[in-house]
Amino acid sequence: MSAIPTLPVIVLTDLDGTLLDHHDYSTSAARDALSFLQQHNIPLIFNTSKTQPEVIQLRRQLANTSPYVCENGGAIYHVDSDDEWHCELPGASYADILKVLNQLRKDGFNFRGFNDMTDTEVAAITGLSIDDAHHARQRAATEPLLWRGEESEITAFREALLAHGLRLLKGGRFYHVMGDADKASAVTFFKDYYRQQWGLNEAPQVIALGDGENDRAMLEASDYPVVIPGESGTLELNNPEAQTAEFKGPKGWNNTLLPLLEKLLKENCGG
Ligand SMILES: [Mg+2]
Repeated sequence: MSAIPTLPVIVLTDLDGTLLDHHDYSTSAARDALSFLQQHNIPLIFNTSKTQPEVIQLRRQLANTSPYVCENGGAIYHVDSDDEWHCELPGASYADILKVLNQLRKDGFNFRGFNDMTDTEVAAITGLSIDDAHHARQRAATEPLLWRGEESEITAFREALLAHGLRLLKGGRFYHVMGDADKASAVTFFKDYYRQQWGLNEAPQVIALGDGENDRAMLEASDYPVVIPGESGTLELNNPEAQTAEFKGPKGWNNTLLPLLEKLLKENCGG
């Protein structure tokens, strides 16, 4: 059983544009809330579209030892009672996705995925360094791809994927193929995980923070959703507990999360 925090609460957070500054990827404005979480043993679970090697780098920088979630909820990494790291794939595995994509390519659909590209090619398309492109290509549960066919064929491609239990999401530059998972899968998973870890009768409360449309499901599944204003608009949620931060990125993260944690701590101590 891991150390029970002063407050039976877990925090799930998006990274880009939420805990990380949109422009310089810094977390320095979130320093106070980050040390509050550490002091009180409250898990801070990264829930991001990034891949595992990308997240591991950031966990190291921030001395974060909590479980984490990669590829938009597609891969959940956690330590079990055997003290070993495990990976849950609530949707589909990368191998299964590639198998279906190979079949669809033979059926005549025209696309180019990260698995078909070299590190250099991914770096050129995304603007990432070669090292970062290499990390972005280490995938467990989703495949980004460039569509090379006619726009009109997308619908048939989407339906062919659906027939195999896979979804096609449109991102900024890429389409993303993944199984039936999203960032909310992790909320359900970790409520149960920490209820057992901490020997609680009820699931712990969940605070979630995010700025993008792909955070909506996670925010809606949480007890205390915190919306960080996004670069291209601010999410609106149908939840009376939802708060919107006053500032973008880590400053908004800090200034909303810290008072919320202090309020919950006070209530929990009966103060
Ligand atoms: Mg984001």
